[in-house]
Amino acid sequence: MSYWTLRPTRVAEVQEAVKAHRTLLPRGGGSKPALSTPGEGQTLLDMTGLSGVLEYDPGEYVLVAQAGTRLLEIEALLAQHGQYLPFDPPFVEQGATLGGTVAAGLSGPMRQRYGGVRDFILGVQFVDGEGNLVRGGGKVVKNAAGFDLPKLMVGSLGRLGILTELAFKVFPAPKATATLQVAFPSLEGALETLYRLAGSPIELYALDLQPPTTLILRLGGLAEALPARLERLQAFLGRGGELLEGEAETTYWRSLNDLNLGEGALVKVALTPRRIPALEPALGRAPRRYLSAGHLLYLAWNDALDVLDRLLKAHGLSGLVLRGSTHRPRIGIDLEQAMGYKVTQALDPQGKFAR
Ligand SMILES: Cc1cc2nc3c(=O)[nH]c(=O)nc-3n(C[C@H](O)[C@H](O)[C@H](O)COP(=O)(O)OP(=O)(O)OC[C@H]3O[C@@H](n4cnc5c(N)ncnc54)[C@H](O)[C@@H]3O)c2cc1C
Repeated sequence: MSYWTLRPTRVAEVQEAVKAHRTLLPRGGGSKPALSTPGEGQTLLDMTGLSGVLEYDPGEYVLVAQAGTRLLEIEALLAQHGQYLPFDPPFVEQGATLGGTVAAGLSGPMRQRYGGVRDFILGVQFVDGEGNLVRGGGKVVKNAAGFDLPKLMVGSLGRLGILTELAFKVFPAPKATATLQVAFPSLEGALETLYRLAGSPIELYALDLQPPTTLILRLGGLAEALPARLERLQAFLGRGGELLEGEAETTYWRSLNDLNLGEGALVKVALTPRRIPALEPALGRAPRRYLSAGHLLYLAWNDALDVLDRLLKAHGLSGLVLRGSTHRPRIGIDLEQAMGYKVTQALDPQGKFAR
């Protein structure tokens, strides 16, 4: 496959590249190769040259960074001030960047507590398909001006513009965390408890289902308050479960962050927990995990992606291939709506970005 690679270090160079090249594909850290491997004749824009935190005021809980900034750098800076990105982005150790995370719309298990990428993005700056620099949103937490362009860019997969700068709202990190792993005799029993937990006032940082029947529950907050909260959670569940604490607990979640679930393609599927009982038997032995109270599924698929494509279509679901060899990372039902086409047409009339 032949393609050009450019590594801009200034926004003006991104604008020039968009004007000068026929089709372009931006790449951040390359941690989701199925989304960032260019096709024949495409120009690859390596965005890691546009890196660095531009503004960070811990007192204001706002961080502004260039799109190519590695999450590792951002998380280390935030941690110095006891803060974090509550949407818990994956692939931090793999070199994921802020821009790539927004474009792919990726969140991790801890989004359960406060929400996903979309809930924390405050502002964007990007280059549209004609080379114009576009700004949307702002750099303050209370920002309600105009059309919400920043949210539109979440999950846009590089099709609406090349992200160059992002503003995010950040939060104080929980002072202490603990995790309870609770195995149930059946999937129905596990889901029944998952529904009860999701509708309860119990605040969980993560509420995951590890098939076949284990719920994984993460609590966070002040260290002094954790034991009592754990007891209340166990009383609610009517069972003890296996407790993970301290270094072992941190290591467990850190290793989950790279989503090395198993051999094959890594696929993200958005769903609702009520879909799980029908989907589970169809997925066979594919290693998988449901995050965010059953609203997000990550699975490792070792068979042909066409097979998964058909399976997802049959269940009315759409998936996004993050790792694995494919020219068509969006599988399952087509979510492209009339609105989507119109937005794409307005921002990229010449069709320079990936489709
Ligand atoms: C113009 C445009 C066109 C697009 N076209 C497509 C397309 O054709 N195909 C495609 O796959 N993607 C497309 N996307 C991407 C799409 O917007 C999202 O990637 C996709 O809907 C999955 O959501 P997400 O990745 O943002 O996941 P998340 O925000 O992580 O959400 C995952 C799922 O969980 C649900 N959810 C999240 N939080 C909660 C909660 N608290 N309670 C209940 N449910 C919750 C969400 O609704 C979603 O279904 C497009 C994006 C844009 C901007």
